[in-house]
Amino acid sequence: DFFLNTERQGPGSPEVTLKALSFIDNLTDKSLIADLGCGTGGQTMILAQHAPGKITGIDFFPGFIERFNKNAEKLNLQNRVKGIVGSMDDLSFEKDSLDLIWSEGAIYNIGFAVSESVWFTDQRPAEIHDFWMSAYTEIDTVPNKVAQIQKAGYIPVATFILPENCWIEHYFTPQAKAEEIFRRKHAGSRIVEELITSNHREAELYSKYKAYYGYAFFICKKGFSLRR
Ligand code: SAM
Repeated sequence: DFFLNTERQGPGSPEVTLKALSFIDNLTDKSLIADLGCGTGGQTMILAQHAPGKITGIDFFPGFIERFNKNAEKLNLQNRVKGIVGSMDDLSFEKDSLDLIWSEGAIYNIGFAVSESVWFTDQRPAEIHDFWMSAYTEIDTVPNKVAQIQKAGYIPVATFILPENCWIEHYFTPQAKAEEIFRRKHAGSRIVEELITSNHREAELYSKYKAYYGYAFFICKKGFSLRR
């Protein structure tokens, strides 16, 4: 509910979406694309404006999908971009029917690929290590994530680290407006105050420890298997 009023629901930016897209070849008007954990569609609309084909956004939070479809309509993309409520661990696409699977900051819900949190260094201060171990134990270094991609039968085409503005300008700063709206909507709520405090702590930790962690984009291609 809180994140309904933010531009995005995770670190990212139009520039990095387009940078990741620049590594993808061979899309046509017939291409079928899925954006898993699309949220309100910040990145999906950018994709749709710069890539051909049909895009299905999937998110399990109905409020996000409602906003997503409104955003698509506002941009006159409703014929090519559709949001549906669903879970990424139970997708209804036919096997091998998708030409591109996209997911920014959301694939952690079913495993790993695409834009994902990473450690930049092999070692890090205990405070930030402990924070991540309580939030998301699968965070790992870029080479370890690339090894997972390879093992899963994909070719790692490119990886790049998201610049700081994806966290600050496009993620933490827009939360101020959402906080205001949320405080008004739930005046006096202890849970809301706790949520806001925890968001602030996340932003503080980022500014203190951004040399040690961040997000990386991973672009992967299906490899050929020897087994038939
Ligand atoms: N892609 C958006 C962005 O970058 O702004 C949203 C990222 S947000 C960190 C993670 C999203 O994944 C949320 O919108 C959440 O509702 C969605 N999500 C979490 N688990 C999911 C699941 N099992 N199936 C579909 N969506 C899921």
